[in-house]
Amino acid sequence: MGKVLVLNASYEPLNITSWRRAVVLLIKGKAEQVEHNGKYIYSGFPLPTVIRLRHYVRVPYKEIPLTRRNLLHRDSHSCQYCGYIGDDLTLDHVIPRSRGGGDSWENIVTACVRCNVRKGNRTPKEANMLLDVAPRKPYSGLYFEVTKHLKNGVNQEWRKYVIGI
Ligand SMILES: [Zn+2]
Repeated sequence: MGKVLVLNASYEPLNITSWRRAVVLLIKGKAEQVEHNGKYIYSGFPLPTVIRLRHYVRVPYKEIPLTRRNLLHRDSHSCQYCGYIGDDLTLDHVIPRSRGGGDSWENIVTACVRCNVRKGNRTPKEANMLLDVAPRKPYSGLYFEVTKHLKNGVNQEWRKYVIGI
């Protein structure tokens, strides 16, 4: 049935939850319905897609795990050296591990097999393969999750609540 975007009382996006959990929050009066997609759970109770909490909650910053899936998503599933988009994608250490480069958001990029092999054990400068965009850590975990959902073509009504998408 889908996921629901939860807004803080301030209208800032807070997290993504299941529709069941969202309905519980609505029934308990802890949240109000902001958007629905026209489907009904039962008569007079539309299925929410965005809800807003009645009371403001403070949340600590959540780290985004450095995984292959998340790196590919950050790099829009494209080679950061040549722009190739397809299935033959690998992860490349910008500064090779053997040269002291670490596992971090700033040092790993998505690269096609060809570019990865061509670059080999060299730095971008040595290989004359410069990156268009300096890799960085995604700045908000929630923003990151929301863009993943939007990419799948669902929950388009979330867009207006998440600035910068
Ligand atoms: Zn490439």
